Amino acid sequence: MQGQVLNSPDSKKEDRTGGMNCLVKESLEKDGLTLKSGVALPEVGSDEVRIRVKATAVCGTDKSIYHSSSSEGIRREMLRYAEDDNSYTPIIVGHEFCGIVDELGSGVGADRFSDVPENLRLAPGDYVTCEMHLSCGHCFQCRTGNEHICTRVKVKGVHLDGCFAEYVTVPYKNVILLGKAGDTSRIPTRIGALLDAFGNAVHTVYEADVRGKSVAILGAGPLGLMAAFLCRDFGAGRIYLTEAQDVERRFKLAEEFGADYCFDVSSGSTDFYKQVDKLEAMANGVDVVLEMSGSPSAYRDAFKIVRNGGTVLLLGITRKPLDGFDIANGVIWKGVTVKGIFGRKMFDTWETMLRLMHSEKLNIPSKLDRIIADKTYALTDYKQAFELLSAGDEMKLVFEP
Ligand SMILES: [Zn+2]
Ligand SMILES: [Zn+2]
Repeated sequence: MQGQVLNSPDSKKEDRTGGMNCLVKESLEKDGLTLKSGVALPEVGSDEVRIRVKATAVCGTDKSIYHSSSSEGIRREMLRYAEDDNSYTPIIVGHEFCGIVDELGSGVGADRFSDVPENLRLAPGDYVTCEMHLSCGHCFQCRTGNEHICTRVKVKGVHLDGCFAEYVTVPYKNVILLGKAGDTSRIPTRIGALLDAFGNAVHTVYEADVRGKSVAILGAGPLGLMAAFLCRDFGAGRIYLTEAQDVERRFKLAEEFGADYCFDVSSGSTDFYKQVDKLEAMANGVDVVLEMSGSPSAYRDAFKIVRNGGTVLLLGITRKPLDGFDIANGVIWKGVTVKGIFGRKMFDTWETMLRLMHSEKLNIPSKLDRIIADKTYALTDYKQAFELLSAGDEMKLVFEP
């Protein structure tokens, strides 16, 4: 894959008469997805770009969508813009991907950007990824530099058609150029498909100044592991990591990524607390906690181990509201700063990510590659892929439609 220049968009044109394959969520009440073929290619709106998907990654949200019958949260989210609870419109799922620009809308072609240097504007054949959170551009948050928490955000693959498909359309503004003329030499497509997820980790770590600090990362899933190497690269003093699943493999990777202490928290062991008590006695806890798991017990750990005056960043999503959370002891009397992290800052996080990806010394593409399954899957093998993820046999995997 590395160094290869991908086909020009024209080389696939003859295949299009038969439409495309895609994975559709037909009903929120039933688990699973439906593989559809012969679906018409998405039309390109005037300010949109159509992209031929080269690789697309599966994330926790997709797993929740797959198992929608047991996740009320995701059902409600997918119905957010529906007229009522009974009027769900099936959509193509998937929101993490990279691909090749196939066609530019009439309003965003070369004539519109004639004043922009050619190497900075999009053209058919370019290698790209996308921010799939589409902000409204009008609400208070959008108008005050906080598009990532737009009150009317629509997410491709959750509210609108996504990228578990051969083609997807995205507003021009949301397209991120990774390589001109299909150049994947710096960022292989397996990794290009992961940037949305990597952006969550980058956004989280950036919100805490970890330089010289003691940091606890709760959850060693893909995002926790990404946070581990980012904290190490950004100069954290001491890195703790906890996980309850598949700990052998994850801890091995985490240690290679620079975590200092890894704790299996599956069996109610108190080793983690003891170690923090011992090493962080002076400060009475860790400076920064990054909650990346969404597990209720990790939320309790977060506010137990953070020091007075410390910071807790919350990225993991709890499946339901937390019971019995002691906000007085956990937050108020400790003077803790708490911040929720959603998505990626538009587009600060993306610009940061691109710089990080292009740093040869940090070698981030090869670290990311170690987090995903070696094998890439065809869309038609989606059942097997989701089974592996559900069973915890793989943490993260990529489809090549
Ligand atoms: Zn995702
Ligand atoms: Zn908005």
